[in-house]
Amino acid sequence: MLPNTLDDAVSALAAMPAAVPVAGGTDLMAGVNSGELRPAALVGLGRISEIRGWEYLDGHALLGAGLTHARMGRPDFAALIPALAASARAAGPPQVRNAGTLGGNIVSAALTGDTLPVLAALEATLVIAGPDGARRETPVSHLLAGMDMLRPGEIVGYVRAPLLHAPQTFLKATGRTGPGRALASAAVVLDPARRSVRCAIGAVAPMPLRPLEAERWVASLIDWDGQRGLAPEALAAFGEYVAMACIPDPAPGEDGAQPPELPPAALHLRRTVSVLARRGLGRSLA
Ligand SMILES: Cc1cc2nc3c(=O)[nH]c(=O)nc-3n(C[C@H](O)[C@H](O)[C@H](O)COP(=O)(O)OP(=O)(O)OC[C@H]3O[C@@H](n4cnc5c(N)ncnc54)[C@H](O)[C@@H]3O)c2cc1C
Repeated sequence: MLPNTLDDAVSALAAMPAAVPVAGGTDLMAGVNSGELRPAALVGLGRISEIRGWEYLDGHALLGAGLTHARMGRPDFAALIPALAASARAAGPPQVRNAGTLGGNIVSAALTGDTLPVLAALEATLVIAGPDGARRETPVSHLLAGMDMLRPGEIVGYVRAPLLHAPQTFLKATGRTGPGRALASAAVVLDPARRSVRCAIGAVAPMPLRPLEAERWVASLIDWDGQRGLAPEALAAFGEYVAMACIPDPAPGEDGAQPPELPPAALHLRRTVSVLARRGLGRSLA
């Protein structure tokens, strides 16, 4: 089925409960090709023009779930939500960016989904279309945490993201040169109106992690009305704070026994997270 509207797509799913929506197919078809998935039928979302662009609404952008990574990477989109554009540019090789979509990235909810830490830092929400024209809204983080899953027949229509009009960054470390999945990633978003810094670390846990105490601590150091720079020591301390929050030391045993040391790979990951968070904040404040 290739419906032309969101509501027609929802109706198609209601008519064929065993059908699965497919957008760019970059995740889904990989599952089909490997034999992991055998959908009884597919409902293609590629012809639904209403979810392939974005519109402005009350200081927010309503982003269509069908926006491709390639489209989000373009300069006009980067001017709106720079960190989301940077994450889209980092997501896979060009063939994947041309087909892969924002909605697919979210619903796949892979550990290494590049848009996910950005959406977590933005505190973005999903607008979900359901039967009989119903729409409901839920934070992206609730879906990623499994607290509020998509119900049968529902389709993600839009992502509501705040327009903060302030610098923001997305940085990603991979194990190779050129496109690759994230070993760790960091999104840093400044919100001058709320005088807050929001940071989310991707790929080190099943969903992006928000180091809330580190965010509050560093926001209290920033001169929001003047030069927003921070001393290198403060940036480095922020990186360490974030990294320790995301990859903590093992807890001591119940009998007070010395905790085991972190394995070298975890120590390396912690250093990577520290560098990404420090650089991300430094670039946002520069
Ligand atoms: C070679 C390769 C490299 C990759 N590299 C990266 C990378 O570096 N970073 C990264 O983040 N990702 C990467 N990916 C993964 C993939 O490209 C992204 O996750 C992409 O955003 C998925 O979008 P899609 O439209 O192709 O999703 P699809 O494959 O069409 O769908 C994925 C899942 O989401 C569901 N779905 C899709 N849209 C909706 C919707 N609107 N409502 C409800 N359910 C929906 C589908 O039913 C399916 O379960 C890579 C993939 C490949 C093949």
